[in-house]
Amino acid sequence: MNIKILSRNSNLYSTQRLIEAAKKRHHHVEVIDPLKCDLIIEKRKPSIFYKGRMILETDAVIPRIGASVTFYGTAVVRQFEMMGVFTTTESQSLVRSRDKLRSLQVLSRARLGLPKTVFTNYSKDVGEVIDHVGGAPLIIKLLEGTQGLGVVLAETKNAAESVIEAFNGLQARVIVQEFIKEAGGADIRALVVDGHVVGAMKRQGKEGEFRSNLHRGGSATVIELTDEEETAAIKAAKAMGLGVAGVDMLQSARGPLILEVNSSPGLEGIEAATGKDIAKTIIRYIERNV
Ligand code: ADP
Ligand code: GLU
Repeated sequence: MNIKILSRNSNLYSTQRLIEAAKKRHHHVEVIDPLKCDLIIEKRKPSIFYKGRMILETDAVIPRIGASVTFYGTAVVRQFEMMGVFTTTESQSLVRSRDKLRSLQVLSRARLGLPKTVFTNYSKDVGEVIDHVGGAPLIIKLLEGTQGLGVVLAETKNAAESVIEAFNGLQARVIVQEFIKEAGGADIRALVVDGHVVGAMKRQGKEGEFRSNLHRGGSATVIELTDEEETAAIKAAKAMGLGVAGVDMLQSARGPLILEVNSSPGLEGIEAATGKDIAKTIIRYIERNV
């Protein structure tokens, strides 16, 4: 088969592992930088030019599109779809996953557990927003944040008001969320491929840190999911329409709560924690569908 990985950097761990796994299964594999693609659109003949030549005979693409290039990256994935090429991540699901508010709405409609969340376009009455999530302590998140940056724990109502007002003043959009204390500074990442959990890890924040992101000094260990957690992860990936998804959950007193569903989940942390060949499961997913 002819597989293309859409990635800006072929040296990244995840990209390297996907190349390796594809080659092991005797596929032709090439990394394409989506930003260097020209999309040719005309009646019934969509095509793509990459570095001056037309892309031919592609069976499948694996989008590894970073958040900063969502717009153009998605257009490239859509063009491949128009050419009848199988993609492990559909363009529509990719776009949906990048919109935190829309994602939460989709997950809510699928009846998944979520931390109670308030989104406000602009509210003069900050106190009311805080009351909606049951008061302090609470979490405030920048809508555009990643890797735990822009996630703030406000311990008191006063602190929460100051932070929300400060973000409002900067015209930064935020969500306000109930703080799940019993999660204990940990979360769960479940990797879902083609409707199955293929690996799961628990990430624990470093001492005194409520954020469990590996980028913030957290550490990861393999974990066996409960049936309820496994079902929630699979349901979340399905609701988002993602063939490959990194589902982040908090363990709460009322069961698993979905934090976020990642459409380009990193493979390094999960492969290291579980010892599993996740890249191979993605290549196998392609083989079943082409
Ligand atoms: P990012 O997308 O930037 O990683 P997250 O929403 O995943 O932001 O939050 C980062 C981390 O903060 C999570 O992995 C989790 O450990 C912690 N966290 C986030 N939201 C909550 C919450 N409502 N209650 C408790 N901890 C939370
Ligand atoms: N992009 C990384 C992932 O999907 C984020 C890891 C982290 O938050 O530390 O795994």
